[in-house]
Amino acid sequence: MSSDVMIEASALTKRYGSLRALDKVSFEVNRGEVVGFLGPNGAGKSTTMRILTCFISATSGTAKVHGFDVFDDPLEVRKRIGYLPQRAPLYQDMSVWEYLEFVADMRGLEHSTFRSRMKGIVDVCGLAQVLGKNIGALSHGYRQRVGLGQALVHNPPILILDEPTADLDPNEKAEVIRYIKEIGKERTVLLSTHNLSEVEAACARAIIVSKGRVVADGPLDDIRAK
Ligand code: ADP
Repeated sequence: MSSDVMIEASALTKRYGSLRALDKVSFEVNRGEVVGFLGPNGAGKSTTMRILTCFISATSGTAKVHGFDVFDDPLEVRKRIGYLPQRAPLYQDMSVWEYLEFVADMRGLEHSTFRSRMKGIVDVCGLAQVLGKNIGALSHGYRQRVGLGQALVHNPPILILDEPTADLDPNEKAEVIRYIKEIGKERTVLLSTHNLSEVEAACARAIIVSKGRVVADGPLDDIRAK
C-alpha cells in the first residue's frame, strides 16, 4: 500500500441479522482528495463511516486509515480522523468556545495548543461571530459549523463528514459546503450526502453506493457522463 492512501476499505461487509447493510464495499481515498460518498437513504453510507471511525465493527473485511487497521489500532485511527456524525453531540448549554475547549481537553490537547489552533478553526469554519454564544441558541447551519470545528480540534489529516448538510435550508447548505471546500484544501475528506449537486460543488471524485454496494467510483466528469 502506498503511503498516500489515507483510507482503504477492503470488502467491508456488515450484517444486521439477515440484512446485509454493506456487501463487500471496497475503495481507496488518497491524500488530499475530497471525495463525495453519494447514495440514497439506507445505502450504507453511515455504516461505512462508523466502521472507518471505529464506532462499530465490520462483520467481515478490513479497513485501514493512514495505514492503521480500524480493528487493531483504533486509537491511532481516531487520532488521525475528524468525524462529524449525522447528529453531532453538541452540548446546548455550553458556549461555542467552551464546547471546543471541552473537546480539546477530551483529546488531551495542551491549552496553549488549543488557543493557537482556534485562530485557524474560527477562520475556516466562520465562527468568529458566535464564539461566546450558547450552542442551543444557534441556527442549524451554525451548529454544523461548530460540528466541523469540533472535528478539526486535534488537527487531523482526514475528515469524515456524515451528511453534514442534512436538515439545513438551501442557503445554509451552500455555506457549509463552502466551508468544507476550504477545509478540504489541506486535508483528505470523505463527505457523504444524497445530493449530487453538493458533490459537484465540493468534490472532484465520487463513490456511489446503493443497497450496500459500490456501484460507481471515479472522477465526477465520468460519473456525470453515465
Ligand atoms: P445511509 O447512511 O446510506 O442512509 P445506513 O448505513 O444508515 O445508510 O444504513 C444501511 C442499512 O442498514 C439500512 O437498511 C439501515 O436500516 C440498516 N441499519 C443501519 N444501522 C442499523 C442497526 N443498528 N440495526 C439494524 N439495521 C441497521
